[in-house]
Amino acid sequence: MIAELVAVGTEILLGNIVNTNSAYLSEQMAQLGLSVYYETVVGDNHDRMKAVIASALDRSDVVILSGGLGPTEDDLTKEVCAEVMGLPLEEDPHSRKRIERYMKEYEKNHPDRRITTNNYKQAQVPKGALVIDNHNGTAPGLILEKDGKTAILLPGPPNELIPMFEESVFPYLRKKQPEIICSQVVKICGIGESQVAADIQDMIEAQTNPTLAPYAKTGEVHLRITAKGEDEKECKKLIKPVVRELKRRFGKNIFALEAEKTLEESVVDMLRDQGLTLALAESCTGGAIAARIVNVPGASQVFTHGFVTYSNRAKRKCLGVKKSTLKTEGAVSAKCAKEMAKGGCANSDADICLSITGLAGPDGGTKETPVGTVFMGCCYNGQTITREYHFTGNRTKIRQQAVASALVLLRE
Ligand code: ATP
Ligand code: MG
Repeated sequence: MIAELVAVGTEILLGNIVNTNSAYLSEQMAQLGLSVYYETVVGDNHDRMKAVIASALDRSDVVILSGGLGPTEDDLTKEVCAEVMGLPLEEDPHSRKRIERYMKEYEKNHPDRRITTNNYKQAQVPKGALVIDNHNGTAPGLILEKDGKTAILLPGPPNELIPMFEESVFPYLRKKQPEIICSQVVKICGIGESQVAADIQDMIEAQTNPTLAPYAKTGEVHLRITAKGEDEKECKKLIKPVVRELKRRFGKNIFALEAEKTLEESVVDMLRDQGLTLALAESCTGGAIAARIVNVPGASQVFTHGFVTYSNRAKRKCLGVKKSTLKTEGAVSAKCAKEMAKGGCANSDADICLSITGLAGPDGGTKETPVGTVFMGCCYNGQTITREYHFTGNRTKIRQQAVASALVLLRE
């Protein structure tokens, strides 16, 4: 079954409000296993609304409209929908009573406002409509069915639309579309997006149910496996062999199988499992790696020190980086990273110290050390390794990539 969303409101076209209703409804459609091919925003204009609604009903089975159900002149959704579907408007006594009750309450709390005949316009519904009660406003929601097509009309304010959707529309659509969709994420780090895509090309090409799609995040690639089935059990059965195959292909680079699990959480878990403690010696990331680590509840079990040594003097004083290193190699060098990591281990009681020094720009780049150059060091068990990276993008992007790569390095 194909669903389509239409958000009505000139305010959205002007950018005065953000179309969160469509984002919410899209998510719900995915949960229901309904495909959405089109989402439209149309202003409060009779002719343009008519054209949009007509083509939506023509190409999709279910059209969900939000907004334009209010009592004012520019609220036209119901009238236009009724016109397109050829359904005359008639008063719904139940809605009239509910609006009267709602407005009486409202008048009690707002003595300066009066109920207007416009409010009763909202009790007019297209013939045969299923009425959805609105407990947070006056406009009822409507479900209209004709010739195998369904239009669902919901008020614009999210605090009205969401409860109405949950209470009535979701169960209504669930009955229409008994198949459900389940998905599973497999999170990968330490391999670039294009490499991951190449490695699963054959799986993507062979897919029908479940489907497999990669999404790139800074330093991470997420693979989403989506299955359609009668129930959760069937979906899980379909997903399981795909996860097994991905584990075979990506092994240690997989850091999470749960949507909520973060890269830093997997680092903390790994350190805890191995009984290791961590210190960080950060220059260009200014504590951002430490911030990610302490985001994880229980990080105190593994994280002991964070040295933010931004100046050369701080690198010398807090980490014992040699004056000569800074003079000959510079602060952005493998040697400096190595000494930072060693000093971090020596000056803390941590088992591991990861250091980072780099040039996030925008200024200060040279031919030998361009902006984006980052060195990391990792001292463990008396040995210190170093890595050199070249990131691109602006200062924020470079720092974000550096943080992600540091977390990836910690997992190695
Ligand atoms: P009302 O009875 O309040 O007039 P309505 O159904 O006529 O409701 P609109 O007039 O289109 O809805 O919008 C009313 C308010 O609802 C907007 O000012 C905005 O705050 C919110 N709203 C409308 N459409 C959306 C949307 N697509 N996403 C998020 N909020 C929306
Ligand atoms: Mg309105």
